[in-house]
Amino acid sequence: MNISYSKQDINNEDIESVIKVLKSDFLTQGPVIELFENEINKYCNSKYSVAVNSATSALHIACLSIGLGQGDWLWTSPITFAASSNCGLLCGANVDFVDIDIDTYNIDIDLLTEKLKIAEKDNKLPKVVIPVHMGGKPCDMKKIYELSIIYGFKIIEDASHALGASYHKGKIGSCDYSDITVFSFHPVKMITTGEGGLATTNDHLIFEQMKLYRNHGITRNTEMMKNKLNEPWHYEQINLGLNYRLSDISSALGLNQLKRLDEFVNIRNNLALNYNEFFKNINISLPHSDKNIQSSFHLYIIRMDFDKMNLSKKDMFNYFYENSINLNVHYIPVHLHPYYKNLGFNKGDFPISEKYYLQAITLPLHTKITLKEQEKVYNTLIEFIDNK
Ligand SMILES: *Cc1c(COP(=O)(O)O)cnc(C)c1O
Repeated sequence: MNISYSKQDINNEDIESVIKVLKSDFLTQGPVIELFENEINKYCNSKYSVAVNSATSALHIACLSIGLGQGDWLWTSPITFAASSNCGLLCGANVDFVDIDIDTYNIDIDLLTEKLKIAEKDNKLPKVVIPVHMGGKPCDMKKIYELSIIYGFKIIEDASHALGASYHKGKIGSCDYSDITVFSFHPVKMITTGEGGLATTNDHLIFEQMKLYRNHGITRNTEMMKNKLNEPWHYEQINLGLNYRLSDISSALGLNQLKRLDEFVNIRNNLALNYNEFFKNINISLPHSDKNIQSSFHLYIIRMDFDKMNLSKKDMFNYFYENSINLNVHYIPVHLHPYYKNLGFNKGDFPISEKYYLQAITLPLHTKITLKEQEKVYNTLIEFIDNK
């Protein structure tokens, strides 16, 4: 049997909940999406939620809702999925990056502070900063929040990995230290809706804007309309939006998956401890831990100094593949993609991310992996290192 790096966890109740919607009157724009949004609010302790068809869409409407546009700057870190910065480009804004911290793989707070000081002098302060909770490990949000007060930027948390993670006892998604938090429900993420995403916020105006952008910029709320016609069929388009709606079919799956989120987080944390125990005596970097946070452990990332160990990452990938184990790498630094190079970014711009990229490997981790399979991952690594 193949050991995959990630896998969804669907049970019979999940399947039944989807069938129930298929037999109901509404496949989309029905009652289930709101039930799902309300349950996420309860779980995360947020006021408002807007469910959409992907985290990419959620990031896009999040940026639109805070008015990001031409001439503005969006900052994030290079070790992320390209959607974290593409959302800025889609709004016509400029994008820049802040390098990562080599221990946490999250945005480096000292480098962020330095870059803000320079940007203030140059009159190029960011309108929004998007911290990415890499692998499910929350960024130091209090510090980023303090900087946002000083320099006046908005914060959108890219928590695509971090549903179920906690920061100083608060759940990620509570927006205690941000304006908006975005989650992904792609099958490899913490819970799934097939494709899907969601944005939480405590700001009513941002909430209303995101709902508008999700649905073509159309409202049926008379208070928001220009013409108070009082005709029962009347609706108005007051913004230029998109169709980013999540169907009730997908929402039903998410709603039922959410019941097991805490169980998923516990299983993943225990599996991470198993790996830590296996690897404690070999010379590789293990995931960083911190008493003030609980990672969701969406990813278990190790770092190896391949040059120093006289090994090749490519050989390692192939060796594991031959042994039916799929590894992965999160991520190719965004600024090194051809599209971003065309925008003017170059190799060497963010050296810590680039060094991280050479060393990082994502090991298989999902709720169905067994201790035996984890042991096989460990043994395969030892064999690879010994037989180089
Ligand atoms: C998965 C992911 C996204 C995009 O999620 P989709 O739901 O696939 O659009 C964005 N940012 C990060 C960090 C991700 O891991």
